[in-house]
Amino acid sequence: MKRLLIIFLAVCLMCPVFAMAEQPEWTYPLAPELLKDVQGFIVLANRENLLDENFAPQDLVDVKIRHVVDDPVRKPAYEALEKMFADAEEAGCKLYVKSAYRSYQTQETMYFNRLEKNNGKDDGWVSYPGASDHQTGLGVDVLNYEWTKKDGMNEKFAYEAEAKWMAEHCWEYGFVIRYMEDKEEITKINYEPWHLRYVGKEVAAYMREKNYCLEEFTEEWQQYVADYEADGGNFEQLIKDRAQLVPTVIGYSEDGEEEISIFH
Ligand SMILES: [Zn+2]
Repeated sequence: MKRLLIIFLAVCLMCPVFAMAEQPEWTYPLAPELLKDVQGFIVLANRENLLDENFAPQDLVDVKIRHVVDDPVRKPAYEALEKMFADAEEAGCKLYVKSAYRSYQTQETMYFNRLEKNNGKDDGWVSYPGASDHQTGLGVDVLNYEWTKKDGMNEKFAYEAEAKWMAEHCWEYGFVIRYMEDKEEITKINYEPWHLRYVGKEVAAYMREKNYCLEEFTEEWQQYVADYEADGGNFEQLIKDRAQLVPTVIGYSEDGEEEISIFH
């Protein structure tokens, strides 16, 4: 009997399914794969986290919905924008893309032009080169027709029906308001009710629920992963282990239509 138990334990140690159980439990509300972020949906660009001058997304597509500039945008963000524009229109809000992807070099030119105009002072309206959310290809400025005709932008746009609709619904499509009204001290950027940032539906819903800006969300999840690893967890291994999980059909629902599965 004792020998059998030892053999059993030895098999357990060799078996990856049992080895998985040795990792601490993952209790963060979002799946580790979302935080691993192979698609780059939660990349943070700001003064402390500058994007490389060669950082350029590979899946940029032309914007064919209503727009006033020809900036491209990353494909997943574009697909979400298309749906959002259609639903907004049904609700009586005609949206326009004002600006989307901006290269490092374009941002650099804009930043130094702004400084020159402003006697060398950074007024928080144009991001530093590498710090712009537009360089991610996931940031997009969305306006109504009236505001596309204006020279400059300001927070009064928030009173427009289109801005209110976006604030209420953009998360349903995977967007967040990147520069929030009450987070200027954290983002170091003025409130921009027109600047949407695609982060994917799960993250957008979570950020909305917590009222987080991207900086706060990033700090929280990075801290969680650091704590997880400090507790003996291996984040990369956890993701590999989870990728191997395959559902096993253990039965069918009463009408025989639906499979009942367990993951092992
Ligand atoms: Zn913007």
